[in-house]
Amino acid sequence: MSTLSKDVAIIGTGTAGLAAYRAAKEHTDSVVLIEAGVYGTTCARVGCMPSKLLIAAADAAHEIRHSHAFGVIAEPPKIDSKAVMQRVKSERDRFVGFVLESVDSIDEQDRVRGYARFIDNTTLLVERQDDEDLRIDAKRIVIATGSRPSYPGFFQAAEDRLVVNDDIFEWDALPSSVAVFGPGVIGLELGQALSRLGVEVSMFGVGGALGPFTDPEVRASAHQAFAGQFRYFNTDAQVDSIERTSEGVKIRYDGGEEVIVDYLVAATGRRPNVDNLGLENLELPLDERDVPIANPYTMQVGQTPIFIAGDASNQIPLLHEAADQGKIAGDNAGRSLKSLADVRSGLRRSAIGVVFSDPQLATVGMRYDDVVKRYDRDCFAIGEVSFKNQGRSRVMLKNQGLLRVYAEQGTGMFLGAEMAGPRAEHIAHLLAWAHQQRMTIPQMLDMPFYHPVIEEGLRTALRDVNANLHLGKALMDRCAECGVGS
Ligand SMILES: Cc1cc2nc3c(=O)[nH]c(=O)nc-3n(C[C@H](O)[C@H](O)[C@H](O)COP(=O)(O)OP(=O)(O)OC[C@H]3O[C@@H](n4cnc5c(N)ncnc54)[C@H](O)[C@@H]3O)c2cc1C
Repeated sequence: MSTLSKDVAIIGTGTAGLAAYRAAKEHTDSVVLIEAGVYGTTCARVGCMPSKLLIAAADAAHEIRHSHAFGVIAEPPKIDSKAVMQRVKSERDRFVGFVLESVDSIDEQDRVRGYARFIDNTTLLVERQDDEDLRIDAKRIVIATGSRPSYPGFFQAAEDRLVVNDDIFEWDALPSSVAVFGPGVIGLELGQALSRLGVEVSMFGVGGALGPFTDPEVRASAHQAFAGQFRYFNTDAQVDSIERTSEGVKIRYDGGEEVIVDYLVAATGRRPNVDNLGLENLELPLDERDVPIANPYTMQVGQTPIFIAGDASNQIPLLHEAADQGKIAGDNAGRSLKSLADVRSGLRRSAIGVVFSDPQLATVGMRYDDVVKRYDRDCFAIGEVSFKNQGRSRVMLKNQGLLRVYAEQGTGMFLGAEMAGPRAEHIAHLLAWAHQQRMTIPQMLDMPFYHPVIEEGLRTALRDVNANLHLGKALMDRCAECGVGS
């Protein structure tokens, strides 16, 4: 077995791993990137980009179908599903190409292909397909191994008709029908897009969960918007059996109902890729999913020379978070080569999450659950706007959904928001920027609002929460125990 000695070893060449590599290289030339799979990142190959490409095609079909409401009469669209998938794949390949170019620009001697496992805190064993195993001694190691779809074992009954997001983006044409399990972020995006492209979609959920929401009012409003968009939509379905038949997958549900679909799409969540890394050889603090617990500001795992970043960290599985965490982890791995005491806090931004469904869904800062966990009920205020009668939303016939904003009593500080509604991706950015600037509701209301825009709806919600706020020292004192003013 050959051996390699490096200052920093990074496991995984996704978004987090590439960011970690660039940051570590600022401190030392001795860095190695290890990749077990294909280069190109989850985001570009099977995540953010192909899903948005599919949604773009679906939106085009939807707009044509609904143009008559504006007095614009169009023929019902004909979906050429081969052409749809061709564009998804060719544009996807273009995005992947950019990643491959950036990987190619990395010095070949900094790259190792193979599957890495820990022997101890500073030693990895890399299993290589076409070569003997490689032992890597590294002073610092960054785990950036991403995540993979996870689903309950009984889905296996669908046999070869069980698919995950990765498989969908390999289809050459669209099937006639699918059952999507999991109306979460990925399930809603893909399920709605497929439905708008003419696929009959049945959507099965458990426990009432929908999208990223914790606020029951916003969830109810989103539920209302999605109900009726699918052949079947139940966020709390009772699935009795799944069976592969000669016709496809037969699903029995709700005590007597039955549907036969071409594919079962599992969108029931993702699990961090840390279960096969040999972590049992180390003594790391682990969370309830057996993921190493890292300080979110330094990405260091306990006091060890190991850092973790991206989806693998089980913190916030989003692209920009993977990039930020990778940068912090790589920077700290490189800067702490002499002493782990040199590890520093990096920039963590205000939380923002967007789902590209219609209506779009978004969460910013503290979600409703975080707020009610932290504050007594009289120490925070809620304001809201329904988009039903919001001027610009009605003009565009996008008038559905609800935005709720949360603020701290006493200080008037904006805490967070949950939203289902038009152009939520843009409202979410305004709100996230205000959150990171630690703005108060009165300060946000002092900002300019054009007319007629959807942001006027945001202003209505801000005015509403403002009317429910009591500012000043008396309330700050009363709510001090909840952390108001801190
Ligand atoms: C369908 C879908 C849609 C999404 N849409 C969005 C979106 O709109 N916006 C957004 O912000 N996020 C979105 N995401 C999430 C986003 O794609 C991820 O958060 C991000 O790609 C994670 O990057 P990463 O670097 O952690 O992991 P990855 O890019 O998965 O990289 C991990 C790498 O590690 C390698 N690896 C794993 N184990 C080993 C090992 N033992 N040895 C060597 N190499 C190993 C893997 O082969 C892989 O290349 C979406 C995800 C999906 C699935």
